[in-house]
Amino acid sequence: MDIAVIGSGISGLTTAYLCKNSGYNVTIFEREPKLGMDAHRVDLTNGEGFIDVPLRVMTPVGWKTVLKLADYLKVETFSIDVGLSYSWENGETWLSIPRVMRGSHMLPIPSSLKYITRKNIGYLREIKRLKKILNENTSWPLSYRLDQFFQDHYFKSDFVDYVLIPVLETITTCNRSLIRGYPAKLMVDSLSHIMSNQKMVRFAHGTKDLAGRLGANMLIHYGSAVKTIENRGHRILVTNERGDKAECDHLVTAVQANHLGILSEVINGEDASLLQSLTFDRGEIVCHQDERFMPKSRKDWCVLNYQMSKNLEDDCFTVWLNPIEPSLKSHTPMFQSWNPPRDKEIHGVLMRTYLERSVVTSKSENAWTKLEDYSHDQSRRIHFTGSWTYPGVPLLESAVLSAVRAASNIGAKIPWSL
Ligand SMILES: Cc1cc2nc3c(=O)[nH]c(=O)nc-3n(C[C@H](O)[C@H](O)[C@H](O)COP(=O)(O)OP(=O)(O)OC[C@H]3O[C@@H](n4cnc5c(N)ncnc54)[C@H](O)[C@@H]3O)c2cc1C
Repeated sequence: MDIAVIGSGISGLTTAYLCKNSGYNVTIFEREPKLGMDAHRVDLTNGEGFIDVPLRVMTPVGWKTVLKLADYLKVETFSIDVGLSYSWENGETWLSIPRVMRGSHMLPIPSSLKYITRKNIGYLREIKRLKKILNENTSWPLSYRLDQFFQDHYFKSDFVDYVLIPVLETITTCNRSLIRGYPAKLMVDSLSHIMSNQKMVRFAHGTKDLAGRLGANMLIHYGSAVKTIENRGHRILVTNERGDKAECDHLVTAVQANHLGILSEVINGEDASLLQSLTFDRGEIVCHQDERFMPKSRKDWCVLNYQMSKNLEDDCFTVWLNPIEPSLKSHTPMFQSWNPPRDKEIHGVLMRTYLERSVVTSKSENAWTKLEDYSHDQSRRIHFTGSWTYPGVPLLESAVLSAVRAASNIGAKIPWSL
């Protein structure tokens, strides 16, 4: 049986791997010149280390399937401790919590006595209260929005705006108003995974390790976007802009819904409107060496550093990479910022690019229900995968779950227990 996969992000690579492992002929089409999952990595000169872009982190509770896949492929992971700092746009810090975990317990303790202010004590109490709510059973419908959750639990607006939403921006990388419209259940579940008294983990040798093992010995047409998809009797013909072709029995699309206009000749109106109903947001990611994105005092530097203007028009987060990327341990400070203010000149830029991400809105639930129905339809020849196709915040976990679902529907064996 012939399978064509469009896209080599984690969902495309995992579906392709599972299908190839089950003996099918697989061809991948990728518009980037290398594996899409690892396409934006920065390699420093003279083998001085590398930067994963974006930097993906997981927790053992929230990313069970990804970690099972990694384990199966013998991809090592390691634990990291992610502290948080909050500063104004000039680098003046108002709260810094460099180590959140003490052993296996979450104890957010500020870096200095100067941060034990009345306001910050209030915020830390709210974090404790939030953690208690997260431990309660939350079987809310997806129509129950985050904004409503804040109101119903009487969270003060300054705690929400200055402390909580920045953390949620890190999880969703979408703008504040889209976050407020997110289903509360998904956000609360994500927060409870993150605040679960378990350390976060990363791939020990970076994303390239997992991507490389998934994509090994695979036929991949790199560096050219798929342009046309046509029916050929019972088969489907995929052609990219360069003219590479593959005829297949099953087509797996592992690209975002807003890039699936290429399917117009092979899907019906219902599928087309499902794809069009979904929302995507984009932001800029910059790897650089500009210390002005960090707290003014080095003592306050944390792995995750939020900078915001008081009116919240500019807010950005910066990851300090050296403490969590072993290959950069003794390198000069390296950073990765998400959505730096547009008018701010950035020193020592290593790379910058825009990345897109799906956003969960009121339309997502309907789309997820339909996509789940499709996955039980044995007559389907076109399978949608990708983090946006699976219920939950679009993360590596939903991407891998969607790949497992598509591969199973095609008939591939899943070589680890689900
Ligand atoms: C800034 C940022 C930080 C993140 N941090 C985390 C994190 O810490 N933890 C976590 O779990 N998740 C994180 N995520 C989310 C996670 O990275 C995504 O959910 C996941 O990578 C999506 O994988 P995917 O395979 O569904 O899609 P993608 O990775 O988007 O793959 C789609 C692929 O299709 C290719 N493509 C598109 N159109 C075509 C075409 N016409 N022809 C050929 N190829 C095409 C693209 O080049 C791409 O390679 C983060 C996302 C962002 C943006």
